[in-house]
Amino acid sequence: MAALDGRVALVTGAARGIGAAVAGRLAADGAAVVVLDLDEASGKATVDAIEAAGGRAIAIGADVTNAEQITAAADQAAEEFGSLDILVNNAGVTRDNLLFKLSEQDWDTVIGVHLKGAFLASKAAQKHMVAKKYGKIVNLSSVSALGNRGQANYSAAKMGLQGFTRTLAIELGPFGINVNAVAPGFIVTEMTGATAERLGITPEELAARSAEITPVRRVGQPADIANTIAFLVSDESSFITGQTIYVDGGRRL
Ligand code: NAP
Repeated sequence: MAALDGRVALVTGAARGIGAAVAGRLAADGAAVVVLDLDEASGKATVDAIEAAGGRAIAIGADVTNAEQITAAADQAAEEFGSLDILVNNAGVTRDNLLFKLSEQDWDTVIGVHLKGAFLASKAAQKHMVAKKYGKIVNLSSVSALGNRGQANYSAAKMGLQGFTRTLAIELGPFGINVNAVAPGFIVTEMTGATAERLGITPEELAARSAEITPVRRVGQPADIANTIAFLVSDESSFITGQTIYVDGGRRL
């Protein structure tokens, strides 16, 4: 029997990058997976890959900052597959700028997607989890939580998610729900590709520079994060809650 047989997982921002890798891994471990992204069509490739590997998945289009949409998505997941056991709050955006140039809108967008999005999705999911007295929630933080030039908005959101994680762990632990966070370092995705573009270098150059100053001498891949999350949503980690696990090759900043 696979580790997540009979479980149902909802992964936000799962059309690509880390979210797609997490969705694929949880499906490979036996979970039925809801691939949630802004646009339903963009989740199709993730769903196709899961189905091609023999797994079960559906795509749902929803904006995590929209209470009505994310609540409907959680309800649809539970209806379609019978329960909602695992939530991975992965959807994310960056709007980097130095403080004096950072617009109010870019502040609100980043805080909105990461913090409000995780709040709304967790609130929508906990209803199903509390009823079953079982659940796993994983929030995506970042090494940037510790401070990163040009990312005041993103850093605040990612450190905010660590406090959010600890608080949900306290509130939901008595209901059999574990809540943890994963804080990735440099992971090769479109998000880090966009950072390279902003710096005026190629993604390969940025990855090479980052690898040079990382103790394990490589950058991370989405699978590195998916492996960690697979452990955190399995029953092998049931005494771990309220934690933030840094998955960064030993490089904090
Ligand atoms: P990515 O490649 O940019 O993927 C993010 C996904 O989230 C996209 O599919 C995006 O959809 C979706 N999304 C954005 N806003 C959304 C919303 N309001 N509602 C629903 N979905 C939304 O990012 P990634 O690199 O895989 O990062 C995934 C998570 O890990 C993020 O929380 C990020 O902050 C965190 N992280 C990443 C790194 C890294 O090095 N890559 C490091 C630390 C932390 P669209 O394509 O339609 O915009």
